[in-house]
Amino acid sequence: MNKTDKEVKIHIDEALCKRCGFCIEFCNTKVYEADQDGLPLIKNLEECTNCRLCELRCPDFAIRVEVVNNE
Ligand code: SF4
Ligand code: SF4
Repeated sequence: MNKTDKEVKIHIDEALCKRCGFCIEFCNTKVYEADQDGLPLIKNLEECTNCRLCELRCPDFAIRVEVVNNE
């Protein structure tokens, strides 16, 4: 896996999240895992490709994907 000068940060608003699991389903690289209540936990952030599908598919706007430049 190539390291780049970019770092991804994912913010999940637990108050907005209704535990639907869409983000977990749509993430091709399995960044998330559900906790016992269905809240997505960030388990494999290093696998995130910054595709933003999770952010776009979240019906409750609970996810924000941020790319930070480390230049
Ligand atoms: S941005 Fe893409 S790769 Fe990263 S967690 Fe979301 S769906 Fe997965
Ligand atoms: S798609 Fe949004 S509302 Fe659904 S589990 Fe993920 S963060 Fe929560």
